[in-house]
Parts: sequence; structure tokens; C-alpha cells
Amino acid sequence: MIKGGCYCGAVRYEAAEPILFRGQCHCRECQYISGGSANVVVGLGADGFSFSKGEPAAYTRPDLPHPVTRKFCATCGTHLLTESPGLTGVKIVKVGTLDNPEIFGQPERVIWTCEKQSFHHIPEGVPAYEKFPPRAGE
Ligand SMILES: [Zn+2]
Ligand SMILES: [Zn+2]
Repeated sequence: MIKGGCYCGAVRYEAAEPILFRGQCHCRECQYISGGSANVVVGLGADGFSFSKGEPAAYTRPDLPHPVTRKFCATCGTHLLTESPGLTGVKIVKVGTLDNPEIFGQPERVIWTCEKQSFHHIPEGVPAYEKFPPRAGE
């Protein structure tokens, strides 16, 4: 069982293993959420995911064509996870909210490098993509 929560403890979650993917995103949107660095996330199956304490607030930008929904603690403001219309069945969880962020290890892929800032770092040997990686068969 993977557990985590927000900074103030008002919202807690539990998720079944395994981690489906490990990512690092440099997009401009993520920079707001992360505080300026790249955003590091783990994909966790929505089926095995639940909030064990509290309920997060949610925000979906109204002006984007296929916006994600971002869930965060309404008390302390910690961003917990993202739900993407292109990745149904997956909670995209912020590594910093895991009780043990070390289970992240390293990202398997780095995305949205076209919006990366000069002070961002991409780990050596990890595949990096300007936007999203091509889907199988493309
Ligand atoms: Zn909180
Ligand atoms: Zn991003």
C-alpha cells in the first residue's frame, strides 16, 4: 500500500501498488504547481486509490481544450494529484506528497522539454521528449 497526504494532514490518501509510471514534466503549467522546477509524478491506478481522510478541492482550467483536473488541499494548498482526460483510470500523484518520496527513484521519462527553463535539470540517460512521447504505433 502506498500512502501519502498534504502538508497540513487534512487530506490523506492510500493507493494499491504497483506504481504504473514515473515521470518528470517540464511544462509551463507544472512549473506553477511545483514552485518552479519540473514536476515529478507517479501514476497510480484509480481503482486502488482512495482518500482515507478529508477531500481535496479541485480546479479545471476553463479556457483549455482538454484540461486536466488538479486536486489540492483547500486548507494548506498542497497539490496532490492530477486527473487527465487522456489517461483515464490513473491518478497522477505528486511525488512530494508520498509518505516516502524515495520510492520514486528516478523518472522513466522526461516530458515537455520544449517549455523547460534553463535552470531545470534532466537526469542523464533518461529518455526526454519535447512534448509527449509518441504512442505505440505512431
Ligand atoms: Zn493540507
Ligand atoms: Zn506538466
